Amino acid sequence: MIHIRNKEEIEIIRKNALMVTATLTEVAKFLKPGITTASIDAMAEKFIRDNGGIPTFKGYGPKGNAFPASLCISVNAVVVHGFPSDYVLKDGDIISVDCGFNRDGYHGDHAYTFAIGNVDEPTLELMRVTKEALMLGIEQAKDGNRVGDISFAIENHTAVKHGYGVVRELVGHGVGAELHEDPQVPNYGRRGSGKRLKAGMVLAIEPMITLGKRDIYTMDDGWTIVTVDGKNSVHYEHTTLVGMDAGENLSDFGPIEEAERNNPELNTGHLKKVITS
Ligand code: MG
Ligand code: MG
Repeated sequence: MIHIRNKEEIEIIRKNALMVTATLTEVAKFLKPGITTASIDAMAEKFIRDNGGIPTFKGYGPKGNAFPASLCISVNAVVVHGFPSDYVLKDGDIISVDCGFNRDGYHGDHAYTFAIGNVDEPTLELMRVTKEALMLGIEQAKDGNRVGDISFAIENHTAVKHGYGVVRELVGHGVGAELHEDPQVPNYGRRGSGKRLKAGMVLAIEPMITLGKRDIYTMDDGWTIVTVDGKNSVHYEHTTLVGMDAGENLSDFGPIEEAERNNPELNTGHLKKVITS
């Protein structure tokens, strides 16, 4: 079932989505070569708990193999669901950080990919285009449209126009009292297909786009998703309210981008605004 959220629920989800934004902003300030991804996770978990939240992801998933950390940290060819570890970040890495914040019975869920130092131009372009595709998808998140309108917008801007791989096995989703709710929101599809959107639905829209082919595999840990060809993969995600005329982001990239610009260790070459729709 797809929930239509009332004003009170939407405001709780908005606050939590903005706490994810605040967490990712702290991550943006913290990132530099030479630190482990586990240290980023520890910092973020403390930030989440100090702000009265519960990290949604920690303990999420099947009994016996629940996700072990507060952040999913996915470096380079890791698409999503990477475990924070003793991996040491180095110049030229890209790092996708996904975070959930749970408070007052609802979740925020959003993600951002950062570039550390000398990242190659094709990867910076992939980052820029993936974020643009997310925004184009969000424009379609309006009352009366269908899920496929979001899916088509994302696929068209990434795979069709730029020849990138669109990961198909993982999708966006409704988000609210549960981390993953109906409907599924694939990043590929046909216009006018799928479930009808109504104002008040809350969606996590999250393109996972690869520089090479779209094929992926899951590592032996049961979580970490990696590109088969070893090429880089990028992930941007917003918690978005379906509106009457367009989607409204409850999470916010603005503070994260500002922190990126103020951190000399980060490459902001992907922040150029040159949308080509
Ligand atoms: Mg997420
Ligand atoms: Mg999500």
